[in-house]
Amino acid sequence: MTKLNRQILEMMQNSKGHMTAEEAFLLAKRKNIDVSLASMYRILNRLTEDGLLTKVSMDGQPDVFDKTVREHGHLVCDVCGEIVDFEIGNIKEIINEEVNEDIKTIDLKLHYVCAKCRKKGV
Ligand SMILES: [Zn+2]
Ligand SMILES: [Zn+2]
Repeated sequence: MTKLNRQILEMMQNSKGHMTAEEAFLLAKRKNIDVSLASMYRILNRLTEDGLLTKVSMDGQPDVFDKTVREHGHLVCDVCGEIVDFEIGNIKEIINEEVNEDIKTIDLKLHYVCAKCRKKGV
């Protein structure tokens, strides 16, 4: 792995966890990591291919890169877009049994309005 890729990976691992390439690019700038937005896209996708990050596809929005690689679900606030992880426990086994197939991966997104947005009364 190149030094730059490692720096980006470490930055992601020390972050809140879910970031678009653009957010990661802005964070890198603040940390004086010298990388272009195009390179950031390339590096994040590469790290995802290598299984070091995961990617969450969002409807009509840029992909979000995730530092958590073990299987988990996401709570997505429909107002501010904030993403929170939750454990999926044995959901996969339950679904496997239900459909009687061998599910490879699970992409579970639950939509809600987060506490902050509820407080603002949106
Ligand atoms: Zn919210
Ligand atoms: Zn996550």
